[in-house]
Amino acid sequence: MEKLSSSNPVPGVCELRQRIGIIKENIHTAALAGGFDPAAVRLMAVTKTVPAGTINAAIEAGIDLIGENREQSLSGKYDEIRRDGVEIHFIGHLQRNKAARVVKMVDCVQSLDSIALAKELDKQAAAIGKQLQVLVEVNIGQDPNKSGVHPDAAREFVDALRELPSLSVRGLMTILPLECTTLQMEKYFSQIHALYVDIRAQNRDNVCMDCLSMGMSGDYKLAVKHGATMVRLGTVLFR
Ligand SMILES: *Cc1c(COP(=O)(O)O)cnc(C)c1O
Repeated sequence: MEKLSSSNPVPGVCELRQRIGIIKENIHTAALAGGFDPAAVRLMAVTKTVPAGTINAAIEAGIDLIGENREQSLSGKYDEIRRDGVEIHFIGHLQRNKAARVVKMVDCVQSLDSIALAKELDKQAAAIGKQLQVLVEVNIGQDPNKSGVHPDAAREFVDALRELPSLSVRGLMTILPLECTTLQMEKYFSQIHALYVDIRAQNRDNVCMDCLSMGMSGDYKLAVKHGATMVRLGTVLFR
């Protein structure tokens, strides 16, 4: 993890701008090290523990993509967030009974892990005339404590989503098991990248794979080196 200069518990715009600059440099270096295009990597600010005022400071500092993992946490801040030009993605486990509220607030659900949830999201998106982007969450480490579809089931899962007209499949998302060695992390990142490339190469209708969302504060450089096109960062930005 980065050593950050400030001990201030609530970083202001200047401090956030500085941190974003360092993170972007790290992303740049890591992408080049892996032979990937640095410009293709998006930075998400994970704002789940962050009050609306700090989210708005991050937006002022250049953040244009935020991620939340609970419906209630997002609902509570939603009206206060300066959302103009800012995308909001849902990144947590989503219960079907909260789908309607989430669909209204977000551009993308990254944590799609069941057909039942997909059908509910499609229905709720259709009801408000929205085209909802989704990422398929893949449990690449086959961790029993994590949600996500089994890697071997991902292709079939993407196929099934093609029948849901209000959903647009944009790619894959993953969270690695806790306490992986660097070697294991590299193995998982490479495996999901291969899966992503493979599904994308099949050029399915209604599927436009351009997002591989992986990497958090502790492992984002490694994730980018292995082909992430989006990293999701909370701690290194806000702590
Ligand atoms: C909290 C969270 C993150 C960010 O984690 P940090 O280690 O704080 O960067 C990323 N992805 C998901 C799904 C999360 O819930």
